[in-house]
Amino acid sequence: MKIICIGRNYAEHAKEMNSPVPSEPVVFMKPDTALLRNNEPFYYPDFTKDLHHEVELVLKISKAGKHIEPGFAHKYYEEIGIGIDFTARDIQAKCKEKGLPWEKAKAFDGSAPIGGFVNKSVFKNLADIRFRLDIDGKTVQQGNTKDLLFSFDVLISHISGFITLKTGDLIFTGTPEGVGPVKPGNRLQAYIENDKLLDFEIK
Ligand code: ZN
Repeated sequence: MKIICIGRNYAEHAKEMNSPVPSEPVVFMKPDTALLRNNEPFYYPDFTKDLHHEVELVLKISKAGKHIEPGFAHKYYEEIGIGIDFTARDIQAKCKEKGLPWEKAKAFDGSAPIGGFVNKSVFKNLADIRFRLDIDGKTVQQGNTKDLLFSFDVLISHISGFITLKTGDLIFTGTPEGVGPVKPGNRLQAYIENDKLLDFEIK
């Protein structure tokens, strides 16, 4: 399986990063070795001094497809989950400065903790799903899919024009504003609506 991530998909986050709002989805990838499951602890890597949390809704692809029309994209995922796109912000800043790829800042081991998934049928409106991240009991990021620049269906259509999607692939759909540093000892808890789906510690 593969993990496809979307950058700058919420205007307020693009603004806090001093990045322009994109005219088409910004796409990057993480390898399967980035996955961290079952609320296992994340070990703070020694190559960064500025590790940031980015809480994101995650789509699980349920059927293989390519060149998917936006109108059919909803048939390619059944479940929505929540995850963290851990980012070594200091390394990313250096990559950006030199125009280099972001993988060292984004794709390292354990950089994609994911929690449980919920069937999308439980949501009345996929364009109005609230989600959030709490650190040590305090809410640090809150998002709502109504603020997505590119909807789930548009993302699936766009990505599948370049890369064949396969069953089990994950799409991290972008982070809302409020990204910031984590440190050893922090406990991260992520919620979709009032459902706690991810709960782990930084060590
Ligand atoms: Zn992200």
